[in-house]
Formats: sequence, C-alpha cells, structure tokens
Amino acid sequence: MPELPEVEVIRRGLAPLLVGRRFLAVKMGPQRLRQQSSLRELRRWVQGRCLDSLRRRGKYLRFNLEGGVTLLIHLGMTGRLLVGPPAAPPLPHVHLVFQLEGGLDLFFQDTRRFGQVLVYPPGVDPAPLAQVGAEPFSRKVTPDWLLEQARGRSRPIKNFLLDARVLAGIGNIYASEILMAAGLHPATPVGRLTREDWARVLTETRRILKHAIKKGGTTVANYLNSKGEAGLFQLELLVYGRAGQPCHRCGARILRLVQAGRSTFFCPVCQPDKG
Ligand SMILES: [Zn+2]
Repeated sequence: MPELPEVEVIRRGLAPLLVGRRFLAVKMGPQRLRQQSSLRELRRWVQGRCLDSLRRRGKYLRFNLEGGVTLLIHLGMTGRLLVGPPAAPPLPHVHLVFQLEGGLDLFFQDTRRFGQVLVYPPGVDPAPLAQVGAEPFSRKVTPDWLLEQARGRSRPIKNFLLDARVLAGIGNIYASEILMAAGLHPATPVGRLTREDWARVLTETRRILKHAIKKGGTTVANYLNSKGEAGLFQLELLVYGRAGQPCHRCGARILRLVQAGRSTFFCPVCQPDKG
C-alpha cells in the first residue's frame, strides 16, 4: 500500500504533466470502484475545468480544479495513476479515464478496487480530509505535541504511528523503519515515552520520509510511480520484510511480531523491550 513518500513521489511526477491542463471528458470502465462518485457527478464537475494545482494531504491526492471543484483520489491498496496517450484496447483494470487537453489521458488502474475517486462541488469540503491527522512535516508537530497526544494512553507505539487520525501518511513499512532508527521496541506503550523519545521519533520520521521521497519511494507489490519506475528506498530497509535475517547494525536476527493484524519487524537488540 502506498504511504506518504510514495504518494508524494506520484504527486511530483504528475504535477508537471497535468497542472494547467483542462479535463475534457471522463469515461468509466466496466466496474466501479468501491468508493467512487457517480460518472454523472464526475462529468458534471470535472469536464471542461482546468487543473489549478495538485496537492497531497496524508495519502490523498487533491486535484484543485478551476472554480473551486475538488477531485480527491486515494490509491487504496493497488491503485495506480498513469498518464499517456489514449489506450486502445483499454488497459486492464482501468476503471476511470480522464481525457485531457493535448492528447493525454489520465488512467486510474486498480486491480482490487479499494481506491477512491470522489468529486466535491465548489464550497464543499471533502469529508475524508476531516479525518486526516497532522502532516509529519507540519510545524504543529513537535515533541511536546506528540507527548500530549500520547498522554495517559497505553496503546503500542507502532499502532500509534499507524493511526492516520494522529499523524497522516505513515504506514506499515515506514512505522517499522522509524522505530528501528529511534531504537524503540514496537510494543512500548506510548504513555511511557519521554519527551526525548518523542524528539527522536520525530527526527527519524522526518529523516526517513524525506529520504524515501528523494529515492522515489519504496516498491512493494503493486506500487510504481507515475512514470512506471520502481522506488529505490527498498534497498535500504533495515528491518521491514527481513525476519530471520541479521540486523545490519548488530548482527542479531530480525524478529516479526503481529500487532493489530499487521506485521511489525524489529531488532530485539537495537530495540530492547524495557517493559
Ligand atoms: Zn540490531
């Protein structure tokens, strides 16, 4: 599943191709996404409008169209946005095609259809964005702010990092990597972390996300950036997906733990359980 760095890489790839272009038509494939505005609504609000800007909020891409219309896209588990000349025959698993000015099409391809494509008329705030927590790079996020969010709570730090209502855009891969870099056991109850612990978590979160964006994201299963290139960050993962292999720092075997139904990878020596 694409996380913040992957979505940001996609945004950076798409923006120069799409911003300033007009959407001419919207076409739909045989199947509808599980969360999608109707073709009628999409056509009504998108067709004929120019793309003013393309922004990211958490894992959402926000297409700001002329006149205050918002087109909100979430890639879900397997969604991809591809740009290219009109495709004949149609590409497999393409559920929506946006025909653009200048002979380019924007394709939304999604084998599992967990992606979202939603349109909002002028003056209507996209409801899903109200649930999205703070951006890890925003000024509001400080060690004290994190300490406050965690005060009196016993949930494990791994689950806290994955909670998009607190911090937006951090998924399973980066949560494991951040905790390894910060030297924290993934099961540590958040209420026990000190201000110094949070300062380390925040520094590592920003460093890892920034570095991953620079490297083009991490390729997992279905993720490719808008140019179809694989990310390079994968080569640098310290713990994620490495159960049973030696830790690059200390040589101990990386362990796997299941938390809230998701796999967590960690080094028992570099990330000791102080419980
Ligand atoms: Zn280690």
